[in-house]
Amino acid sequence: MGYYLIMNQAIAKVYSVGNYTISETDTKRDVDFRRFNVSKDGARKPYVVTFQTNTGRKAACSCPAGIRQLGCKHVVMVKSVYA
Ligand SMILES: [Zn+2]
Repeated sequence: MGYYLIMNQAIAKVYSVGNYTISETDTKRDVDFRRFNVSKDGARKPYVVTFQTNTGRKAACSCPAGIRQLGCKHVVMVKSVYA
């Protein structure tokens, strides 16, 4: 008997916060613990919010404030729905 690895079976939950849509995506390169797309209605590209720990303490976002590590509303938004 072996184990079967079934990929891509998880159904991601999608949340709406105001004008934003938040969805969880696959992690990348084993550096993220959890990874989310945060997209505003009408925006071309989502911002990517990542957490490096399961407690969400180390968070990053691809928006201008997030890149400068100032903290941003996207991280707060993701925490508010996935906490
Ligand atoms: Zn942000």
